[in-house]
Amino acid sequence: SQQLIHLLLFPLCVLLSLLPLLFPLPLCHPQWEEISVMDERNTPMRTYQVCNVMEANQNNWLRTRHISREGAQRVYIEIKFTLRDCNSLPGVPGTCKETFNMYYYESNNANLWFIKESQYVKIDTIAADESFTQVDVGDRVMKLNTEVRDISNLSKKGFYLAFQDLGACIALVSVRVFYKKCPLTVLNLAQFPDTITGGDTALVEVHGVCVNASEEFEAPKMYCSADGGWLVPIGRCVCKPGFEENKNICQPCRPSTYKALATDAYCTKCPPHSSSPQEQAVECVCEKGFYRAETDPRSMACTRPPSAPENPITTVNETCVTLEWSPPRDTGGRGDITYSVHCTKCSGDGKKCTPCGSSVHFVPRQFGLSSATVLVTDLQPDSNYSFTIESQNGVSDLSPTPRGTAIINVTTSQTVNVVLKERRSKDSVTLAWQGPERPNGAIVEYEVIYYEKNQREQNYTVLKTRSNMMTVDGLKPGTTYVFRVRARTDGGYGSYGGEIELETSHEGKSLLLFLFILSAFFFRHCGYIKAKQDPDEEKMQFQHGSRTYIHPHTYEDPNQAVRDFAKEIDASNIRIERVIGAGEFGEVCSGRLRVQGKREIYVAIKSLKAGYSDKQRRDFLSEASIMGQFDHPNIIRLEGVVTRCKPVMIITEFMENGSLDTFLKKHDGQFTVIQLVGMLRGIASGMKYLSDMSYVHRDLAARNILVNSNLVCKVSDFGLSRVLEDDPEAAYTTRGGKIPIRWTAPEAIAYRKFTSASDVWSYGIVMWEVISYGERPYWEMSNQDVIKAIDEGYRLPAPMDCPVVLHQLMLDCWEKGRSDRPKFGQIVTILDKLIRNPASLRELANSSVWSDPSTPEFSVSTVDEWLEAIKMGQYKENFSSAGYVSLDSVLYISVRYRRLLSHSC
Ligand code: AMP
Repeated sequence: SQQLIHLLLFPLCVLLSLLPLLFPLPLCHPQWEEISVMDERNTPMRTYQVCNVMEANQNNWLRTRHISREGAQRVYIEIKFTLRDCNSLPGVPGTCKETFNMYYYESNNANLWFIKESQYVKIDTIAADESFTQVDVGDRVMKLNTEVRDISNLSKKGFYLAFQDLGACIALVSVRVFYKKCPLTVLNLAQFPDTITGGDTALVEVHGVCVNASEEFEAPKMYCSADGGWLVPIGRCVCKPGFEENKNICQPCRPSTYKALATDAYCTKCPPHSSSPQEQAVECVCEKGFYRAETDPRSMACTRPPSAPENPITTVNETCVTLEWSPPRDTGGRGDITYSVHCTKCSGDGKKCTPCGSSVHFVPRQFGLSSATVLVTDLQPDSNYSFTIESQNGVSDLSPTPRGTAIINVTTSQTVNVVLKERRSKDSVTLAWQGPERPNGAIVEYEVIYYEKNQREQNYTVLKTRSNMMTVDGLKPGTTYVFRVRARTDGGYGSYGGEIELETSHEGKSLLLFLFILSAFFFRHCGYIKAKQDPDEEKMQFQHGSRTYIHPHTYEDPNQAVRDFAKEIDASNIRIERVIGAGEFGEVCSGRLRVQGKREIYVAIKSLKAGYSDKQRRDFLSEASIMGQFDHPNIIRLEGVVTRCKPVMIITEFMENGSLDTFLKKHDGQFTVIQLVGMLRGIASGMKYLSDMSYVHRDLAARNILVNSNLVCKVSDFGLSRVLEDDPEAAYTTRGGKIPIRWTAPEAIAYRKFTSASDVWSYGIVMWEVISYGERPYWEMSNQDVIKAIDEGYRLPAPMDCPVVLHQLMLDCWEKGRSDRPKFGQIVTILDKLIRNPASLRELANSSVWSDPSTPEFSVSTVDEWLEAIKMGQYKENFSSAGYVSLDSVLYISVRYRRLLSHSC
C-alpha cells in the first residue's frame, strides 16, 4: 500500500540577485510559471512550466514546501510532466535541453525559505521516456511522461524537493510523494500491524500478535519488504482450547462439541456417553454412570466398570490350583480390563473363612492380572478355599458401585498317604501302595517316579498305572533307587507321598519285605516332576526409536504397515472434483474430504487404476505407509487411504500450485530472491526432518516438491518403486539401476551409495532449479556427458541473478566427498541467516555483465557505448526504441527485463 505524503509545489527563484556574494550562481528570474492548460481529454489542469529554450545558461528552480516523511525511510516521488523535443521547436539554438534535474534536501526545519543550491542532493536527471510532445498538423497533442524515483535512508523530520531546469521546455503537471507500507494483515491467526517499509532494500522484521482467543504455537513473524509486500511467514498462533479457527478468527466451540488442546485443529463432536451443553467446551462431561480416567484422551468415549468375570473353573495339582475364567460380558467400553484374586481358607463346613495370608503365592501375581488365569501355590493340602475373582478397568476406582466378582470354592488334594510294599530282585523292584483315604474325586491313575540316588536331576523316570501295584524292572544290581508315588483324580494331581529308598539285591541275595508308612511331606513347589517349567515365551519386539522411519519391507504383511501408519477413510466422505495430473499408478484428482467433526478440506486423491497386480497394489500403498509416518509442515501430509473398496486411493493434502518445477517456469522472474530463499528454506527444513528420521529420499528434485497457495513447499513422492519406474528423469546406469542422473550424487550413481548426504547433493540441484526458475540442470547435455563432467570437477555455474552466497552453498552441496557436504540442519541455519540479513544476498555471482555502467571499469558515457562494452551492440536499437536513452535510465531496467534479455541472448 502506498501512503501519499503530499503534493505542494511553488516556484522558487533562487534569490541570487539579493545575495550575489553568497551564491555565485547564474542569475535567476522566476522562470517557472504556474499556468492552466487543457489535458488530453480537454480538462483544465494546473502546471508549472518553463520554456526558455532560446536563451543559454538557464538555471531555473522550483521547490516544494517541507514534506514530512512520517517515519518512512524510503520515499517515492512520482512526477508527471511533458517535455518538448528540441527538434520540434523551430530555430532553437544547441543549448536547448531535453532533461531536467530533481533534487532533495533533508531537514528538521519545516520553514526554510532558502536552501543553497549546493546543499541539495541530486536524485536524478529526468528525461522524457517515450513521448516528447508530439506535433500534429498544427494541432498540439500533449503526452504525459511519468517517472518514479525514490530516496532512501531518510532520517530527518522531512525534506524539500526541487526541480532544476537548465534550458528545456517542461510542463510539470503533478508530483506525488509517497511511501510504501505493508498493510495490516492477519496470517496464521497472528495480526501484523501496518508497517512502514525499511530504507534501502532491508526487510523489516515484524512480530505478529495472536488474535483473540488464540495463543502462540511458534512465535509468529514476517518480513515487510521494501516494496510493501509481506514475506516469509514464520511461526503461527493456534486457537485456545474451546475455540476453533474460522476465517482467521477463533470461534468458540458450539454446544455438543469441544476442543481439548490448542494444537487440535477443530472442535469435534463429544465422544459417546458425554456431552457439552455450553459453548467453548475444552472437554465433554461424562453421562451419569460413565467415567473418564485421568490418562484417557479427551477424545475417548466415557466408559464404565466391567461386569463380573464369568464361568470360573479350577484345576487342582497337589497343593496348587489353577483358576481360569471368561472375561466379563460387558467390558464397560474399555480394553484395559484386569483381574484381582482374593483367597480365603474355610473351615470344613465352609461357614467360617479367613484370609489366606502371605504364605499362599499367586503366579504371575495376585492383583492386576491381564489374562483370565492365575496359578495359586503353597496351599495346604486337604483344605477348603474360596477364591473371589474381581474384574476392574481404568474407571473402576472412579465408580462408587461395587466391583463385579465371581466366587469359586476349591478343596486341595489329600496327601497320598501310601502304604508301600516292596519286593526286590537284582534288577527289579515291585511296589504296592494304598490310595489316599479320602480322595478328591475318583482316582484316574497313579504316577511313580524313580531315580538313582543322588542323580535325580540327571535322570529320572516316570511310570503310570491304574492299579495299586507296579514292578519296575531293568534296574542295576546292588544300586540304591529313590521311589515316589502320587495319585491323580479328576480334580488334578495329589501330593507325592514321601520318598522311599531301595537297593536292588546283589547277585543271589534273597528278597526283603518290609512295610513302612510314608510320612507326609510336601514340596514347596508344584510340578517338580515336570522336566522344567517353560519360561514365559517373551515376544522379542524390535523397538524403533520414536523418530526413526520404518521401512514397509520390514513388515511381513505390507497391509499391516498400511494399517499401522495410514487412516482408513470411508469413500463416501470423499468428493472427487477434477483430474489434476497423472501418477504412476493412475490418475491424480483434486477433491474434498469430509472428516467427522471437521469442515471439508481440499485434498489430492491418487487412485490405483483397475486391473492392478498384487505387487502394484502393495507398491502403490507403500507410499501411504511411508508418508503416514511423517508429520512436518514441509512434508506432504497423508490424510488417509481407501483400501476397503475400489478403487484403492491415497488421500493427501491439496497443494494448489502443483509441482515446483512447473510452477517456477510459469512464474519466471516474478519472485524476489527472499521469496526464493524462503521456498528453499522450507524444502531444507523438510529434508532435515526426513534425514533425522533416517529416511533417504533418493529422488529429491523440483518436480517432486509441491507448492501450496501460500508458497509453502513440501517434499513429496515417497513410493518405493518411484525411482525405478515413476520418474521420467530416471535412466539406467551401467550397474543396471535406474537413477535420475542429473540430480544424483556421484557415489550414488557409481555404487548406489544413497544417504542423506546424497540427498544433500540433490538439494543443491534443487537450489539451482529454483534460482533459475525451473531451468533444466545441465541443459541439454547428455547424461553420459553430465557424469563425465562431474567426475572431472565441473559444477553448474550460478544461474542469472544468483547471489554469491547461494551459489557457494550449492557448490558445498556438490562436494565430491560426501562427508564434506553440509548437513540439512546446517543448510536450514544458513538460509535462516540469509533471510534475516538480506543484504548478504545483494552480491550477485554473475554481476559483471549487469554491473553499474557508471563504475570505473566501464568508462562509458552513453547507452550505446555501454552496450558495445558488454558486447551487446546489436541491441542498441532495442534500447533506444524502448526509451533507454540515458545511462541512468538503464540502471532502472528491472531484473525481469534483464532476464528476458539474457534468454534472448
Ligand atoms: P505423483 O504421482 O505424486 O508424481 O503426482 C502426479 C502429479 O499430480 C504431480 O506432478 C502434481 O502435479 C499432481 N499432484 C500430486 N499430488 C498433489 C497434491 N497433493 N496436490 C496437488 N497436486 C498434486
